[in-house]
Amino acid sequence: MPYAAGKFAWAICARCSLRFKYLSLVTEPETFYRVCRSCLDEPMPKKRAKVDGVPLRNPRPDGEG
Ligand SMILES: [Zn+2]
Repeated sequence: MPYAAGKFAWAICARCSLRFKYLSLVTEPETFYRVCRSCLDEPMPKKRAKVDGVPLRNPRPDGEG
């Protein structure tokens, strides 16, 4: 397929909105956004699943009651 090589094209990072060379952007596996390398290394700023403090359903140890 005659796709353009993108050698001289510019692209906008989906995270930091800065302009980068098209070929320097990478596709983020989770979101399929086109992001720059530095943004790809950063953790996602979205809601973080906090696992701490999950209440126990039955806190009584075995053998009681
Ligand atoms: Zn970026």
